[in-house]
Amino acid sequence: AEEESVKVAVRVRPFNKREKARNSTLIVEMKGATTVLNDPSGENDPKRFTFDYSYWSHDSFKEEASGYLAPAKPHYADQNMVFKDVGMGVLANAWEGYNCSLFAYGQTGSGKSWSIVGYGPNKGIVPLFCDKLFVQIGEKTAGGETASFEVEFSMLEIYNEQVRDLLNPASKRKGGLKVRQHPKLGFYADGLKTVAVSSYQDIENRMEEGTKNRTVAATNMNATSSRAHTIVGIKFTQKYQNAAGEETAKSSVINLVDLAGSERAESTGATGDRLKEGAAINQSLSSLGNVISALVDKANGKKVRVPYRDSTLTKLLKNALGGNSKTIMIAAISPADINYDETLSTLRYADRAKQIKTKVAVNEDPTE
Ligand code: ADP
Ligand code: MG
Repeated sequence: AEEESVKVAVRVRPFNKREKARNSTLIVEMKGATTVLNDPSGENDPKRFTFDYSYWSHDSFKEEASGYLAPAKPHYADQNMVFKDVGMGVLANAWEGYNCSLFAYGQTGSGKSWSIVGYGPNKGIVPLFCDKLFVQIGEKTAGGETASFEVEFSMLEIYNEQVRDLLNPASKRKGGLKVRQHPKLGFYADGLKTVAVSSYQDIENRMEEGTKNRTVAATNMNATSSRAHTIVGIKFTQKYQNAAGEETAKSSVINLVDLAGSERAESTGATGDRLKEGAAINQSLSSLGNVISALVDKANGKKVRVPYRDSTLTKLLKNALGGNSKTIMIAAISPADINYDETLSTLRYADRAKQIKTKVAVNEDPTE
């Protein structure tokens, strides 16, 4: 297996209504892959971070008739640009038989879902990825390749530490799916519904079905924001026959993770049930933080125990973070002075994540 670093991209969005209403000032600058965060109080020096990509999606765009936000100036990063850098790499890895994980981190309303799933004509990485995957399968098949391709889809959310199958809403009433451990395959959600899909349209329909079953609640920060972590799983299997008539198979599991808001409970004005949710979300996210810290120590040669078992999220992401997977993190940030603390904490989180190394190997059967 080869060692590979977690790749990190940061993306800054336009001001939202709330920020505009409060006459917010812009505190983020980007140059090449570097992101600079200025302290609006002037007390601290500007904080400088270098990532694999820094995406400027704050201004310099024009809205097309379709509603698509296209670059008006070259430095604006639109959905297609992010997909070309990030999504196409995941796709190439899937064809080679590597597992891949992509996750979005950031406070509520920072643009996680925009990047991962997208809205309307501004399709995010998941739909663009699925679209392209079926286009490429079609091309291979038309090219006369004697191969068969299978694509399977699943969608779950983690809410208050419970796993809910978004393609099987009844699982919610039964207290969610159990997370179990397989000696070879690691942690998995037992009984999760996986459906075979044979076209982009199939996936789009399933995504819509799953999204309807998601748990959403209003907080002060974003009325439609999900307080849960959502994981879309795609398993891609290729079967080939060689000249001797023997079958070889390659498979890849792709996890696309839209994390719940990373903000501390007190800044959202949450009370009662909302506060309890906030605590559970933070349990999963703080466990994720602890796992990342331990993995960074490990990458630096320290002997540490990685606390995957501390939360549902870290169990299910174990393979993505410390196992056989190429992993990409998108850190979504607000451009506004009023979110300085949250943005700084997101950038620090992302800065730690980029030090993690995973060991990747192709999933091939029979193995060479
Ligand atoms: P999150 O999933 O992090 O809670 P969303 O992705 O839903 O946040 O983003 C909140 C809103 O911000 C979206 O409805 C959209 O209007 C806007 N937005 C986010 N990212 C971008 C972007 N890159 N370009 C334009 N608008 C964006
Ligand atoms: Mg969201």
